[in-house]
Amino acid sequence: MDALPEALRSAFDPERFRRDGHALVDQLADYLRAVTQRGGPVLPWAEPEDNLARWSGSFPDEPGTSLGELMTRVLAGSNHLHHPRYVGHQVTAPLPSSALVHLASALLNNGTAVYEMGPVSAPMERRALAWMAQQAGFPAEADGVLTSGGSVGNLTALLAARQAITGRDVWDEGLAGGKPLAILVPDETHYCVKRAAQILGLGRGGIFSIPVDERFRLRPEALPETFALAERTGRQVFAVVASAGSTSTGAFDPLEPVADFCRQRGLWFHVDGAHGAAAVLSPKYAHLAAGLGRAESLVWDAHKMMLLPALVTAVLFRDGRRSYEAFSQRADYLLRHGAHGEWWNPAHRTLECTKRMMGLELWAALALHGTRMFSDYVTRMFDLGRTFAAMLDDADDFELAVAPDCNIVCFRHVPDDFQDLDGHQERVRARLLAEGSFYLVQTRLRGHVHLRVTLINPLTTEADLEGLLESIRRVGSS
Ligand SMILES: *Cc1c(COP(=O)(O)O)cnc(C)c1O
Repeated sequence: MDALPEALRSAFDPERFRRDGHALVDQLADYLRAVTQRGGPVLPWAEPEDNLARWSGSFPDEPGTSLGELMTRVLAGSNHLHHPRYVGHQVTAPLPSSALVHLASALLNNGTAVYEMGPVSAPMERRALAWMAQQAGFPAEADGVLTSGGSVGNLTALLAARQAITGRDVWDEGLAGGKPLAILVPDETHYCVKRAAQILGLGRGGIFSIPVDERFRLRPEALPETFALAERTGRQVFAVVASAGSTSTGAFDPLEPVADFCRQRGLWFHVDGAHGAAAVLSPKYAHLAAGLGRAESLVWDAHKMMLLPALVTAVLFRDGRRSYEAFSQRADYLLRHGAHGEWWNPAHRTLECTKRMMGLELWAALALHGTRMFSDYVTRMFDLGRTFAAMLDDADDFELAVAPDCNIVCFRHVPDDFQDLDGHQERVRARLLAEGSFYLVQTRLRGHVHLRVTLINPLTTEADLEGLLESIRRVGSS
């Protein structure tokens, strides 16, 4: 055989890795220092086509740019989630320690679909999930999987629900011939829940919206009529979804009455806690999720309120055996291996075959920092949501959309005598983005455009939020 080509030899050279790695960590540490001290814009805004033009579409035959040069450009152009004035989407400023664990995870690449490919990560996944299940108030027989995001998580849970409740073997036989199926979801549900329902073959007609109250929380007294409406269309309802922290306003649905309703009707109760399930970690705010332990299944994103880099999502089942039914009707593994099946072979229960070492990433964060830090983090961010709401309430020229349950706050700037308030919110946001002083998003509530912040970076302070209101006034009056 020919000698190893030089480019391959160099690519796998441990000394090159050591050099590049040290330099990269130095570069990232300098970056972290600069952005956490509020240096530069939060998002260096550029039009998509301008950004596209910056990145070449042709690649060299021979080794080209260096890692350091490349990373300098990447850092300069990115949205800076560690900047305390990042108050945008529900994506956290990850723990720097988790970035290091990610590096190790990427190098080891133990894909964890089967035990032999993930002998460390699979047990860690099981232990971390058991801890989360316990925090959520689930019994000892609870179990679950880590998967790639809340969207896949909700799909996984609803697949198991369909197998468990409909009395049909849809997995093997398909939907044809049976009654069309339906689920009930709050009006405010995340779009991925509706998408999951359509992937499940329910069609748009199989998704029934449960009305919400003036605080955007599901109205439990509307459940019987929504259920009856679905049945009148000739559909079989098999699940009710509630949100523990809705996406647009962070509203927590009342879970106890939904659990009662599901028990009476023999329905599956699924909680989408992608954002807010972490409330259970905070003694001060756990009450928001009262009744969570009665859900059949729960989705909980660790990349939102548990400070991990994307994506790490727990899908938990109160009866762990159900987790084996999402991707197979007859859970043969259970027959061979007892109640917990082959937990060491996660592929039986996840959409992914190969997946990242998510178990390692979650377990390491808990072990390195201790659980109290996560509890304090949730409390602090939910507190900050209330503080910001109070600031908005006190200001004559701002209007709070709804008293926040958690760390998502929606509001409007309402200067005197202003006509086009919707257009005004959009212009204010566009100007803040263009100058890079803050990164926030917008949403539509009650038919009107609102500014929306998620206070998810632990370094964001009250002074930053005062600064946000000042900046809005400034750009809003020009
Ligand atoms: C973010 C979110 C999702 C989607 O989760 P991903 O991890 O982004 O796929 C689903 N539901 C709720 C309530 C969310 O906040």
